[in-house]
Amino acid sequence: MTASTIVIVIVGAGQAGALAAAELRRQGYAGRLVLIGEEAHAPYERPPLSKDVLLQPQTARCAIHAEGFYAEHAIELKLGVAATALDAQARTVMLSSGETIAFDKLLLATGARVRRLPMLDALGGLGESVHTLRTLDDAQRLLPVLQPGKRVLLVGAGVIGLELASSAVDLGAQVTVIEQAPRAMMRCAPPVLSAHLCVVHRARGVALHLGSPLAAAARERGEIVLTLEDGTRLTGNAVIYGIGVEPETTLAQAAGLHVENGIVIDAQCRTSHAHVYAAGDAATQWDEASGRHQRRETWENANQQAQTAARAILGLAPEAREADWFWTDQCGLNIQFAGDMAAPEWLARGTLDTPPCVLFGLDGEGALVGAITVNQGRDMRSAKALIGKRARIARETLADPAQNLRNLAREFA
Ligand SMILES: Cc1cc2nc3c(=O)[nH]c(=O)nc-3n(C[C@H](O)[C@H](O)[C@H](O)COP(=O)(O)OP(=O)(O)OC[C@H]3O[C@@H](n4cnc5c(N)ncnc54)[C@H](O)[C@@H]3O)c2cc1C
Repeated sequence: MTASTIVIVIVGAGQAGALAAAELRRQGYAGRLVLIGEEAHAPYERPPLSKDVLLQPQTARCAIHAEGFYAEHAIELKLGVAATALDAQARTVMLSSGETIAFDKLLLATGARVRRLPMLDALGGLGESVHTLRTLDDAQRLLPVLQPGKRVLLVGAGVIGLELASSAVDLGAQVTVIEQAPRAMMRCAPPVLSAHLCVVHRARGVALHLGSPLAAAARERGEIVLTLEDGTRLTGNAVIYGIGVEPETTLAQAAGLHVENGIVIDAQCRTSHAHVYAAGDAATQWDEASGRHQRRETWENANQQAQTAARAILGLAPEAREADWFWTDQCGLNIQFAGDMAAPEWLARGTLDTPPCVLFGLDGEGALVGAITVNQGRDMRSAKALIGKRARIARETLADPAQNLRNLAREFA
C-alpha cells in the first residue's frame, strides 16, 4: 500500500486538524483526506475570539485557511458533522450524518470543551445571561453583552478571563472579576506578573476579587447576584465564566484508547492504537524534560503536534521541538511566555511598569529555564534559543537592556 492509496481521516476541524491536513498535503500525501468538524464554520483560530472578534467584529479575520483552500487541496471538509463512534480495530469512524468512513490512519484533533460551572445553572440557560467562550458562536453571543453600561461578572482570572476583562473594558462595560485562587493567571504566570496584571486591570476600573470562591448564584429583581464564600455580594446583568477546559476525549475513551486527562500520545503523536494519532488540546504528550505527560492548551502546541502527527502518519521523523511558547494580549500589552513558568527565581530586564520589559526565569542552579516578554516580542526567539540551551548567564548581563539578547543567543549556539 503506498501513501497515495491510503485513506486518512482527521476528526476535529480546529487548529490542529486544519494544520495537519495542510501539512499532509505539503508533504506530498495525495490520497483521500477527510476532515470532520462538528461546528458549522470552516476551521478558524480561537485566539482572536477574546480579542479582535469582540473588539472589531466587522473586520476581524480568524479563518485558518483561505476559503478555496480545502477544495484546491482535495481535502474533503465535512462541517456540521460529528464523529460519533470510532472502531479502532475495524478502522472505521461513524458520523452523525449516518455515514461510516473506513480509514487507514486517523488523527484525533478534538480539542477541549469548557469546564462547566453547574452552580450557574440556576441563572438560566447558557448563552442567555450566562456565557462562556470557546467557539465563534460563543463570541458572537457575547457581542450584545459587552456594551457600554452593561455590568459583567467574570468568573475566572485565567488567561481567557483576563483577556475578556480587557476587551469588555475597551467596549465600555463595567467589569467585576472573581477568582478563587489567591492570584491571577496562577497556572501560567509567575507571582510577579500576576501581581502586575492585577494592578493594570484595577487601574482600568476592573473590580478584582481574588482568593474567595463563588458560594451561590441567584437572580433577584432581574439582577444576577453572585455571593462569594467570604460573604461579598456582587451584582450584574450577565455572567461570563472561564474556569479552564477539559480535553475532549469522549470518542477516544469509548474506543478503548489510553486516556488519562487527555489522549495519551508519545513524542510522535501516536496513541495506544497503532493506526490512531492525536494532537492539540485533546492530547497529553510524553515530555522528556519533565519526565511526565503534559497537556498543553496553546495555539503553538496545536500547530507543532499537528505537524508532528502528519509527519508520523507519513513515516517521517518529527522536527525538533522548541521551548513551549504562548502569548496573551490584554490591556495594550502583548505578553509572550516561553519555557518553565514555575521557575523559582525571576529577574527583570526593564520594569513591568514601563514596558518593554523581559522577565527571565532561573532554576535553582541559575540556568535560564523561562522567559516572558512584555511588549518586546522581538526578543522571544533569542530567549527560546537560550532556554533550549539552559544557558547560564550572569544576572547583571541578563538584567542589562544594553546587552543584546540575539548576540547572547549566538554565543550559546
Ligand atoms: C478564546 C480563546 C482564546 C485563546 N487565545 C490564545 C492565545 O492568545 N494564545 C494561545 O497560545 N492560545 C490561545 N488559545 C488556545 C488555542 O486556541 C487552543 O490551544 C487551540 O485552538 C487548540 O487547537 P485544537 O485543534 O486542539 O482544538 P480546537 O481548536 O478546539 O479544535 C477542535 C475542534 O474539534 C471539534 N470536535 C470535537 N469533537 C468532535 C467530534 N467528535 N467530531 C467532529 N468534530 C469534533 C470541535 O468542535 C472543534 O472545532 C485560546 C483559546 C480560546 C478558546
